Amino acid sequence: MQSSSQITISKAALEINLNFMRSILRKDVEIVSVIKGNAYGHGIEAFVPLAISAGINHFAVYSVQEAYRAHAVANEHTEFMIMGYVEGSALKWAIANQISFFIFDVDRLKEAIGYSKELGVPAKVHLEVETGLNRTGIDEANMLEALEIIEANNGDLEILGVCTHLAGAESIANDARIKQQLRRFNQYKSQILAKGWEPKYWHTACSAALLSYPKSRMNLVRVGILQYGFWPSQETFIQYLTSKKINSDPLKRLIAWKTKIMSIKQVNQGEFIGYGTSFLAAKNMRIGIIPVGYADGYSRNLSNYGRVVVNGVRLPVVGLVNMNTLMIDISEVEDVKNGDTVYLIGGQEGEINISVASFGELSNQLNYELLTRLPHHIPRLIQNN
Ligand SMILES: *Cc1c(COP(=O)(O)O)cnc(C)c1O
Repeated sequence: MQSSSQITISKAALEINLNFMRSILRKDVEIVSVIKGNAYGHGIEAFVPLAISAGINHFAVYSVQEAYRAHAVANEHTEFMIMGYVEGSALKWAIANQISFFIFDVDRLKEAIGYSKELGVPAKVHLEVETGLNRTGIDEANMLEALEIIEANNGDLEILGVCTHLAGAESIANDARIKQQLRRFNQYKSQILAKGWEPKYWHTACSAALLSYPKSRMNLVRVGILQYGFWPSQETFIQYLTSKKINSDPLKRLIAWKTKIMSIKQVNQGEFIGYGTSFLAAKNMRIGIIPVGYADGYSRNLSNYGRVVVNGVRLPVVGLVNMNTLMIDISEVEDVKNGDTVYLIGGQEGEINISVASFGELSNQLNYELLTRLPHHIPRLIQNN
């Protein structure tokens, strides 16, 4: 490998996860693949063509930069929705390319109409309504004005969808709030239908809602974390297993992150390892040096704490995680040699694994956070199995 570490993405795992979702959803529910955060760290350029080959033709991004990147590797049948940031010339680009985007306030509504008139192309939009997350979304106070503006500029906008985002469907603690959001959404729905408009899509569900709130599924779901083989939270995982009376995970992770042992060294009892005094060798030790550090997304919080897998054995990180290097204790495994593969995430099929979840718990990060912090510079390689 040319680069100091490599991320592999499994096509078979994606197919397993998509089939799992399809088995839950009615046939007429469209799956939109959420690829914000560099496709949750999997890499937009690697992931989008893979997902297309697995039957996905609709993607959701947060920003227009992500839309540019995804659009460049997609095909003419692929559709996109921009859920967050886009304005000015980028908004014009989106309209000209028939890329849909969320309208969450009157300012954006007016801007979109202005560019539509200029281009002579109707903007494809999703009206995002405020139901209780209190982030983006048109609220009740502005809804009438928004609807009037849309009506007055009939022809400049195509209302492709109406949507909202739920405030934490991965925890039962938020149950009352989520149900109230769904009720409010249906009030907006009546208001919009009363105008005689017929948006193609009604959508509220993310991964957790898809699993726990059947009513949230409507006719389109925006799925992020689940398609990559991760549960939105430990709670949703356990709840799913319990309700189905099963005990094995139906999802499979796509990602593995691996590197190689770069050098091996003997350290005598009583010596410190690495910078400062954070690790003192209590015995004679054999240490493997690995060319990955916090600049590669391996958190410094994992100093003296992280675990990696070499030859099917889980081994501890010793000393501080440096910018580009870390050390592991290989004393317990005799046959480890220079150049051996080290798994930072994942592992060989059927062997011990480093799950992102345990890794994330050790470094106090969510699955979501850890994945999206995997740097862009690490090459992503697609594997069929
Ligand atoms: C991130 C996001 C999703 C997907 O969330 P997951 O929990 O990863 O499925 C859906 N909708 C919106 C608006 C989002 O920002």
